[in-house]
Amino acid sequence: MYRTHTCGELRIENVGQSVTLAGWVQRVRKMGGMTFVDLRDRYGITQLVFNSETNQELNDRANKLGREFVIQIVGTVNERYSKNANMPTGDIEIIVEELNLLNASEVPPFTIEDQSDGGDDIRMKYRYLDLRRACVRKNLELRHKMCIEVRNYLSNLGFLEVETPMLIGSTPEGARDFVVPSRMNPGQFYALPQSPQTLKQLLMVAGFDRYFQIVKCFRDEDLRADRQPEFTQIDCEMSFVTQEDIIQTFEGMAKHLFKTLRGVELNEPFLRLPWAEAMRRFGSDKPDMRFGMEFVELMDTLKCGIFPVFDNATYIGGICAPGCAVYTRKQLDQLTDFVKRPQIGAKGLVYARVQEDGSVKSSVDKFYNPEQLEALKQKMEAKPGDLILILSGDDAMKTRKQLCELRLEMGERLGLRDKNKFALLWVTEFPMFEWSDEEQRLMAMHHPFTHPMDEDIALLDTDPAAVRADAYDMVCNGIEVGGGSIRIHDPKLQEKMFEILGFTPERAQEQFGFLMNAFKYGAPPHGGLAYGLDRWVSIFAGLDSIRDCIAFPKNNSGRDVMLDAPAAIDQKQLDELFLKVDVK
Ligand code: ASP
Repeated sequence: MYRTHTCGELRIENVGQSVTLAGWVQRVRKMGGMTFVDLRDRYGITQLVFNSETNQELNDRANKLGREFVIQIVGTVNERYSKNANMPTGDIEIIVEELNLLNASEVPPFTIEDQSDGGDDIRMKYRYLDLRRACVRKNLELRHKMCIEVRNYLSNLGFLEVETPMLIGSTPEGARDFVVPSRMNPGQFYALPQSPQTLKQLLMVAGFDRYFQIVKCFRDEDLRADRQPEFTQIDCEMSFVTQEDIIQTFEGMAKHLFKTLRGVELNEPFLRLPWAEAMRRFGSDKPDMRFGMEFVELMDTLKCGIFPVFDNATYIGGICAPGCAVYTRKQLDQLTDFVKRPQIGAKGLVYARVQEDGSVKSSVDKFYNPEQLEALKQKMEAKPGDLILILSGDDAMKTRKQLCELRLEMGERLGLRDKNKFALLWVTEFPMFEWSDEEQRLMAMHHPFTHPMDEDIALLDTDPAAVRADAYDMVCNGIEVGGGSIRIHDPKLQEKMFEILGFTPERAQEQFGFLMNAFKYGAPPHGGLAYGLDRWVSIFAGLDSIRDCIAFPKNNSGRDVMLDAPAAIDQKQLDELFLKVDVK
C-alpha cells in the first residue's frame, strides 16, 4: 500500500497513529539536529520530522532530499509543539520511521509555490509543474465542481447530454474554421465545430426536446485579449419554448451556480436591457453594471456653433466621474492618451471640473461662457468634486464605444469593478444583421439560424437592417457569459435568411442543405443558448484570464508551448493527405 492517508487529512485526533504517506517534497529545512520536510500532494501539506539523535542515518537521507522528489514515508502522528493555524494539518507532524525514495527530481525551473518566481512563458512550458501549485489547481477543482453542478441541474430538468462529432462541416459562428484534411477523401476537409449549433438543432428535429453538452468549440480567430482557439461551452437547446422559457431556465441555472459554488444568493430577477438601450446608456452590448456612470447625451447642450470640434460631431456624450475634479493635469493627460490609443481611437478628450463652489472649469473655457458650462453641469447632474469627461465624433456608435472604454477605465480607477460583486443582466433585442465593410454585405449578428422577432418579420423585405433578433446574451460584470436565440424552424424563412445573407440558393443548399432538408420533416419550434464554461469559471475564481482555469491552454499566438504545437508534419503524412505546403 502506497499510503494510508493523503497529505491533507491528518488532524489532532490522529495523534499516536502509525501512517504511511506519499507525495512530493515541497521544502526541506534543517534546524540543529532536526530536519523538517513539507510533504505535498493534491490534498495538502503535512510536516515530516527527522531527528538525528534518534536515527542519524534516516536524518542524513532526509537532508539529501531535493525539491519535488517523490517519497513515501511511514511514521507516527505527533502533536506539534508550535502549531501553524494557517494550515489545516498545522496541529500535527509525522515523526518519520521509514523513508522510501520513489523518484528523484531535477531542480524545477521555478518554485512550486502560490507566489512563484516563474514568468508566464516558463510556467506554460512546464505546465505540469505549474499545475502542482495549489492556486492553479484550485481553479481546475472549481471547474470540475461547476461541471458536476451543471450536469445535475440540467439532468434534473430533463436535459439529455448528447455528444456531437468534432469532425464535421462548417458551422458559421462568425470566425474562421479550423480544418482537418481527410486522407480517405483526398482533397477534402472536415471543419472542427465552431459550436454544435446545427447539430443541436437537428437533435430538436429528432425529438430530443432538451439537450445539453459540455463541449469543446474551435474558432480560428486572431487571439484578442483572453481568447483561446479551443474553448468549452455549456451548450443547450430546448423545443417548444419561447425566449421567456429559455431565460427562466438558464437564469435559474446561473443563480444555482452562484449559490452552490460561490455562496452568493441572487434573488432578484436579472435586469433585461434591450440592445439599443445598452448601447445608448453604456456604449456596449455587455455593460458592466457594477457601477453607474451612465452616458449623458450632450448634442443639445454643447453643439451651438462655437466650438468647431463639437459643431462637426454627430454624437457628443459625457460621463461624470465622482470625486475626480481633483485630477491633476498629468492625470488628465494620461486619460487623454488613454482614449487616443489606437485600440480606442478617440481624437481627444474634453473635461470639465466641478469645483467646490459649484463653478465649472473646463478645457474648453475659451469657447463656452459660464452659463453654458452651468447648463452642462445641470445636464450631467454633476456635483462639486465631479469630473465631467466628454467625447465626440462623427460616428455615434464608434464614439459610444470609445466612451464605454473610458467609463470602464474610470470604474477601474475608482475601484468600482469589485471582483466579489456580481451584476448580471440579459441584453435582448439585438439587431438581426450587421454590415460588414470587409465582406460588403449584411452578416448575421448572432448566427444565420436566429429567428427574427415576430413583430419585425415584415421588415425583412423592406428594411432588413432594422430587424431585431429573438436573441439574448447573459452578461456578468461586463463580460458576455452566454448567449443564444430562438431559431428559425420554417424552411422557407431559413431560405430567405440565407438569401439576405448573400448566399446563392446553390451555396445555401451545398452548405446547409442537411438542415433545410431536416426542417421539411416536422421541425419543432426551438431555441437555446450556450454558456462559456471557461469564462464562468474565471469569473467565479476571480481570475483575470480564462487561461488560468484551463489545464493546458494556448498562448497568445495560439501555440501550445509545452507540446510545441502547431508544428510541421512529415512529408510522408503530407503525401498521404495529398497536401503541398507553400509557405511564403
Ligand atoms: N451556438 C451559439 C454560440 O456558440 C449559441 C447558441 O445560439 O445557442 O454562440
